Amino acid sequence: SGAGAENLDYLDVSHLAGCRDIWVITELRDGRIASCTMELLGEAHRLVKGTAHSVAAVLLCKEVGLYPSELIAAGADKVYTIQNKMFKQFKDQPYKEAILRLVKEEKPLAILFSATAMGRSLAPRLAAALKTGLSADCTQLELRDNGILIQTRPAFGGNLFASILCPYTWPQMATVRPKVMKPLEPDAKRQGKVIEKNYHLDENAVMTNIIDYIAEISEASVDDAEIVVAAGYGAATEKGLALVSELAKVFGGALGVSRKVVDAGLISYKHQIGQTGKTISPKLYITCGISGAIQHIVGMSSAKKIVAIDLDPNAPIFHMADVGIVADLYEFIPKLITAQNER
Ligand code: FAD
Repeated sequence: SGAGAENLDYLDVSHLAGCRDIWVITELRDGRIASCTMELLGEAHRLVKGTAHSVAAVLLCKEVGLYPSELIAAGADKVYTIQNKMFKQFKDQPYKEAILRLVKEEKPLAILFSATAMGRSLAPRLAAALKTGLSADCTQLELRDNGILIQTRPAFGGNLFASILCPYTWPQMATVRPKVMKPLEPDAKRQGKVIEKNYHLDENAVMTNIIDYIAEISEASVDDAEIVVAAGYGAATEKGLALVSELAKVFGGALGVSRKVVDAGLISYKHQIGQTGKTISPKLYITCGISGAIQHIVGMSSAKKIVAIDLDPNAPIFHMADVGIVADLYEFIPKLITAQNER
């Protein structure tokens, strides 16, 4: 850790000479560019500002359509498009093959992926094929004048931040947590180049076949919710979870939980907020019986307003809450629900 402050001019980075671009691998969801890609483009744009480097989005899709102009409006200086019917849905093998060829032809300085199911599956395969390093789940990036990308991520149970460098192999690669970086305000007047690539990919070499996607029917997801009401171990009973869930509903929000609630087998992992769960930045985050361990905090500290309900007045969560309520959640939440319903 601490490389962020160090002078790194001593490193021999001659292998990076001529590598100009920071690439962002585009993720498509339900026919739209995912918000995490827009966040990466915003961050890449900030990294290259005032340098000789530029931002390239890499778009693999069945039909290119209007995606390139959206990517340029969101911060890309150029867009590499690779169109192929195999890219109707994400599949590791053909995606990896196509990006591998593009990397060898175009020599990026660094490649950024979102730390999503797609990025977490694709990035390590590509890094292994390129015999280079990969930092997973980064929360901060810094580009030095010599082209070194400092990749920062929580380490040792979230107790410190590690600054990771990949100075001896190429390209530099990182997955970045969604919701941490800020997208740019889209600017339809931004100019950028669109570069079409065509690669022959052997369909028979693809070992997976996706037959169908079935959307999960579930309550609101924490990923994009503006209000998240989260239950901790203090609410880890059937009654407690039902109360917190009802509170989430009356506020029109989604249900989050701490890891202890997931570990107790009371709810699925997709609700977990924190270092090994999701990172979110809702407008309002209400905690119910969550003590405020650092591993939980890293997943929600960028919430605009935090309201904490806890029995223990010394619970660490109160250090960061905008509003702290020292109360028994089993008594307080029903009153809050009634008050909210009466508004
Ligand atoms: P506790 O710490 O047990 O707190 C329960 C709180 O409920 C207490 O403050 C108590 O006063 C209060 N309470 C009890 N009864 C009531 C009541 N009736 N009314 C009101 N308040 C009440 N944790 C995460 O959440 N997310 C992660 O992603 C995560 N990743 C981790 C990764 C690693 C490598 C490690 C080591 C740990 C991780 N943890 C994570 C676990 C984390 O360290 C804590 O153990 C966890 O966050 C604690 O959950 P909690 O606050 O719900 O429980």
